[in-house]
Amino acid sequence: VADVEARDFNFYYSSFRALDKISIAAPKHQITALIGPSGCGKSTLLRAMNRMHDRTPGARSEGSLLLQGQDINTMSDLVELRKRVGMIFQRPNPFPMSIYENVAYGLQLGAQKIPKREIPDRVEAALRSAALWDEVKDKLRQSGMAMSGGQQQRLCIARAIAVQPAVLLMDEPCAALDPVATLKIEELMIDLKQNYTIVIVTHNLQQAARVADQTVFMTMNPETRAGFVVEAGPTG
Ligand code: ADP
Ligand code: ADP
Repeated sequence: VADVEARDFNFYYSSFRALDKISIAAPKHQITALIGPSGCGKSTLLRAMNRMHDRTPGARSEGSLLLQGQDINTMSDLVELRKRVGMIFQRPNPFPMSIYENVAYGLQLGAQKIPKREIPDRVEAALRSAALWDEVKDKLRQSGMAMSGGQQQRLCIARAIAVQPAVLLMDEPCAALDPVATLKIEELMIDLKQNYTIVIVTHNLQQAARVADQTVFMTMNPETRAGFVVEAGPTG
């Protein structure tokens, strides 16, 4: 069963068609890697799964993009969508707050209805799941922005999973990290797929081979520059 599915999905920036009839399925509790040359529309596709284009003038789509069978583009509650679909970016972007507050942030939003007294335990659990707890447990009040890049990225992962989404989208999550931090994130992803469905954009074929269950190869039409899927299948 797929948690995220695109069916004949076209995406346009005004008159430019960035995605041409994308049909892919990201199976539950698997890692799906989107790979392909720069400009083929990987980020566009990933961002559409989280409705990040809503405020981009001229952006529109056709076909369907489904989250657990539900059409993402007709969802009325963006907060609810983003609770179910977490996003991690290339450049770690912790909030200018303490480590604790970064993770507690989403849990404190009224819509979550999480009893206040449960928040510290939820923060700890998220930091443990993000393989960060041992490194930060004695400095939870320090700024999230004072850590190394790899730690910041794991903090962003902790922040995303604290609200227990179904899906984690990762847009080149290791591109700004050194090799050691990259390996740590890769191990973490493999660990996280027990609980989350993961879609990762990567430029790195070796990374896809190391982490992904399924690899989707995209490229673009040399004349129109529209991105399309060349092949999708089990990695290996
Ligand atoms: P990738 O992630 O594979 O590098 P992108 O999704 O970033 O590809 O970009 C796909 C195409 O859409 C590119 O031609 C890019 O220039 C174009 N594009 C991306 N964002 C915008 C935007 N906001 N407005 C217009 N064109 C865009
Ligand atoms: P990355 O390499 O991380 O994908 P880019 O430099 O391609 O980043 O894009 C950075 C930002 O500029 C993104 O928000 C993207 O949507 C936007 N963008 C990319 N191409 C275009 C374009 N042709 N017109 C307008 N915005 C664009």
